[in-house]
Amino acid sequence: MIASPEQGERPRLLLTPGPLTTSRSVRQAMLQDHGTWDRDYHALVNGIRRRLHAVAGDPEDATVVLMQGSGTFCIEATVGSVLPPDGKLLVVDNGAYGRRIVQIAQRLKIDCRVLEQPETQPADLEAMERILKADRAITHVALVHCETTTGLLNPAAAVGRLCREFDKVFVLDAMSSLGGLPFTMQELGAHFLVSSANKCLQGVPGIAFALAHRPTLERTAGWARSIALDLFDQWREMEGGGGKWRYTSPTHVVAAFAQALAELDAEGGVLARYRRYCENHEVLVAGMSDLGFRTLVAREHQSPIITSFVSPADPRFSFAAFYDALKDRGFLLYPGKVSRADTFRIGTIGHVFPEDMRRLIRNIGEVLSQWGLRLEEAKETTS
Ligand SMILES: *Cc1c(COP(=O)(O)O)cnc(C)c1O
Repeated sequence: MIASPEQGERPRLLLTPGPLTTSRSVRQAMLQDHGTWDRDYHALVNGIRRRLHAVAGDPEDATVVLMQGSGTFCIEATVGSVLPPDGKLLVVDNGAYGRRIVQIAQRLKIDCRVLEQPETQPADLEAMERILKADRAITHVALVHCETTTGLLNPAAAVGRLCREFDKVFVLDAMSSLGGLPFTMQELGAHFLVSSANKCLQGVPGIAFALAHRPTLERTAGWARSIALDLFDQWREMEGGGGKWRYTSPTHVVAAFAQALAELDAEGGVLARYRRYCENHEVLVAGMSDLGFRTLVAREHQSPIITSFVSPADPRFSFAAFYDALKDRGFLLYPGKVSRADTFRIGTIGHVFPEDMRRLIRNIGEVLSQWGLRLEEAKETTS
């Protein structure tokens, strides 16, 4: 039985870190067409920008730039636009999304220093400090807040303080944390905080955005290494044109995003959403542990966004078959393995509720018993 508000109307749940399960009302908001020049549409766009600013804690001196495309497009727009031609970027790589920032920098021929770490360990602040002391050419630091690869949470506020101390510009990939974890841009000290519509804000895919420290953004005019992904030009048009984007904007996605942000308010804001995600996560982990699954990341570094489970060593367990069996039962897990470890991931964000997690656990239990699989008792993760 589905006890969440939309009983019986969803064919299946996406337990993935984006795209994710959206509400029916968010999907319905896309049934209306909009003109990109129209003032009602501009009001939608401006409402979204205002709302995102509020979600980030209404930081003084911050402004919002919306960008067409998925999250990576805005990461690339930001990295490619805010580093001066002779800039140098320090990137922490403790997961696939950190590595993607490195790839972007390399492709754009931006000088890059990589701090490589194990995927189960949060950003090493002492190592970062040593690098910042030794390498004076570094101008910018990039970090992933919640590494969606594993669900690991990086110490963004501490990295923000380090950046202020060493006078570096801080670029934060808050893709899978904004709207789902309670924090403000001021607390994290980010100059550029990048996120997208289709994660904890529970919109549909197609829009990403950067919250930018305005004076820092204003200094970047002319630095972009791309036309379409020029963050400064996009902002100037949006700001000066009263809500008009450069080029065609994803009008239906904008309408859905405005609705999704209204639903965040209706839920009680970020804190209420965070509590729901925490409960989803706790129900999931307790249930999986009872079934014999072990988590990859230690509890103290784990976010409630997505959880990596170690694949059972039993040769009768195959993730492909597990995925199909659960898909038949109405649950889409994340099929791609992005972590270096042999794991699979289950997301707990989106329009999903603790009841859904309990139903998932029951279904997983049934699948395992159909396979005659009894896993060993799970041990507490110690890594
Ligand atoms: C989802 C995500 C991205 C962007 O991925 P897209 O597939 O481009 O949306 C970047 N960083 C993190 C941490 C993410 O979770």
